[in-house]
Order: sequence, then structure tokens, then C-alpha cells
Amino acid sequence: MTTASHRRALGQHFLRDAGIARRIVEIAGLTPQDLCVEIGPGEGALTFLLAERAGRLLALEVDEKLVEGLCARLASLAHVEVRLADARRFDYSTLPALRPSPESRVVIVGNLPYSVSKPILERLVAARTAVSEMVLTLQKEVAERVAAGPGGKRYGALSVLTQLYCDARLALAIPPGAFRPPPKVDSAVLHLRVLAAPRVPVGDEGRFHRLVKAAFGQRRKTLANALAGGLGVSAVTARQWLAAAGIDPGRRAETLSLEEFSRLNSFGPLNPDGKMRGFE
Ligand code: SAM
Repeated sequence: MTTASHRRALGQHFLRDAGIARRIVEIAGLTPQDLCVEIGPGEGALTFLLAERAGRLLALEVDEKLVEGLCARLASLAHVEVRLADARRFDYSTLPALRPSPESRVVIVGNLPYSVSKPILERLVAARTAVSEMVLTLQKEVAERVAAGPGGKRYGALSVLTQLYCDARLALAIPPGAFRPPPKVDSAVLHLRVLAAPRVPVGDEGRFHRLVKAAFGQRRKTLANALAGGLGVSAVTARQWLAAAGIDPGRRAETLSLEEFSRLNSFGPLNPDGKMRGFE
């Protein structure tokens, strides 16, 4: 692999605007009690600022050369560790044990590589019980999809399945020129605060996830047809199910609130064994 393609594959667009770096770190609101985990520290544009504020900092970087460089520059800071690790596979459940004290927050900060930002975000949301807040720089379009409310084309499974567990807000827009080399797209900082409990009752979470993904799987279709196709139930059954939940079967998934998805999940065509058909 050439150096340039290696950098591209790892999404290495380094932040070169010190003012924006400071604003990102301010959004995280770190205190000396907090454990901060930085994903993809790169050349350290955020790392040194985070190290000044956090009680402990763990930086996860997949590029060996960058890890070596950062380790050398951060060697004098005993509360900072740079680890060679892939953020898609890191075991986030180990984080609470690394906190400076049992009351400490775990705050994830990262200017994420765009090609893998969605799997990393999904992994972090899945590991939410180990995390308090996340301040993630993403492709603007992805950040907007996560924070979108019902009624628009950006609202989808990523919005529902993140907002089920987190408050989500767009905290800062960043133009391509803030990075070296500049990416082809705009970026934005997404601020997620993990909720103490899911925003709405979900019952069986696996089933809720399958329901939401099926509803948005064919988003141009009516809900009845999207659910029938995605879950393998008949259109008649899907229509009866939606009617029982008080939801017009002719609506599209993008118009449903989290409360309506929750209600829909609590109704459904049951098999004789009590399990929902098409949900297994
Ligand atoms: N934080 C630095 C900054 O703002 O200048 C670098 C950001 S750069 C967009 C993304 C960084 O994530 C790069 O350093 C890249 O090597 C690293 N990276 C890419 N894939 C990764 C992965 N799967 N796990 C951890 N780090 C990764």
C-alpha cells in the first residue's frame, strides 16, 4: 500500500484549525474526574488539549507509526496512554474499570475516520452502559441523520436507534478547510449524552431493532408493505397489526415517532408459541 492510499484508507484528515480543536474539547466539558477515551488521535490535534483537562486519557489509534510518534511526545504524562487498537473491535465494557474514581464519567471524543464512522458509532451505542457522553466529529450528512427528528428524509434507523438511548444534538459545523488534507465533504460535531434508560419502552430490544430496520428498509413503501417485506409477514397481517397499534398502515416509516415505534412493537401477530411471526 502506498503512503497516500494508506492515509486515505484510514481516513487521515488531520485537524489543523486550533480554534476548532479547542471548541471540540470545550463541548466535551472534561474535568479532572473524567476518563476520556479518544478515538483516532492521529498527530494529536485534540490529544494534548484533552490531556490537559481529563483525569485520565486513553487514546486508541490503529496506525502503528502514529502510535509511536504520540507515545514519544506524551511519554512524560503519566495519566495518558496511547494504545494500538482498532476502535471497531475495542472492548468498551472495560472502560468503567479504568476511571479515576467510581463517580467519574467516561467521555468518548473522536474525529472519526469517515469510512468506518458508522460501525464505530453503532459499536459505541451498543456499549452505552459503559459510556456517559460522546463528542464525535463525523461527515455532516451522517451527523444530521443521527440527530434528525421524524418527518424528513434524513430520519431513519440510525436516528431512531441512537435517540432511543441518547440525547443527540449537532454541536458544531466544520468546513473541509479545517483539515489537512481537506476531505471532499463537510463535517459536524455530534454530541451524544447517554440516557439512564431507553427513551421509550422497547420490550425485546433485538425485536425492536429488527422492526425499525424493516420499517426503513424500503422507506418509499407504505409501512404495511415495508413491514410485510422486511419481516416476512403477509401484507394483510401487517395492516391488521398497524391498525391494532392505532397507526395508519398507509404512512411511511419516516413519519413515526419513537413512541409510535414502541407502541407498534408491543402489538403484533403472535404465533401459537407466543413469539412474533417474522421476528425470529
Ligand atoms: N484526531 C486527529 C485529528 O483530529 O487531527 C486525527 C483524525 S483522522 C480524521 C482519523 C484518525 O483515526 C487517524 O489517525 C486514523 O489513523 C485513525 N483510525 C482510522 N481507523 C481507525 C480505527 N479503526 N481505530 C482507531 N483509529 C483509527
